[in-house]
Amino acid sequence: MLLPILKYGALELKTVSRPVDSFDSELEKLAKNMIETMYSAPGIGLAAAQVGINIRLATIDLSVGEDPEQLIVICNPEIALIEGEQKSEEGCLSIPEFTDTVIRPRAVKVRGQDLHGEPFEVEGQGLLARCFSHEIDHLNGVLFIDHLSVLKRNLIRNKIKKLAKAGEW
Ligand code: ZN
Repeated sequence: MLLPILKYGALELKTVSRPVDSFDSELEKLAKNMIETMYSAPGIGLAAAQVGINIRLATIDLSVGEDPEQLIVICNPEIALIEGEQKSEEGCLSIPEFTDTVIRPRAVKVRGQDLHGEPFEVEGQGLLARCFSHEIDHLNGVLFIDHLSVLKRNLIRNKIKKLAKAGEW
């Protein structure tokens, strides 16, 4: 089932999500719907907060459904290690049509749990490291534009305000 993706301005996107503590069929169903929604968008990552559920769950797939081995579903992810720095253009399904340069770690090691509560560790470089950082930010109520300068952030905010006024957001 496709879930509506919340856009900038929604309270859930500014909320710190609570840890996943029941690894039940409800969680599995939400993850399945998030994956479907992410592929349909299309996007390479989605946090539960973006579909209005403030729990620490994220789905990531750099192949957007092309390669089943690249799908990562992670609960309660935490960055255990960061290495280096990368500067690149970034966007977000909740802030469509806007992108900007964001500095992120070049590589990360992330610890989390699968849908059954089993702990696992995953390492990511380049785009995957960027994606992990972006999705974990979502779980903490942080958006990519929060990393921009005040000037750039206000520019985007004002454009969104105008779009919202015109009923186009
Ligand atoms: Zn995002």
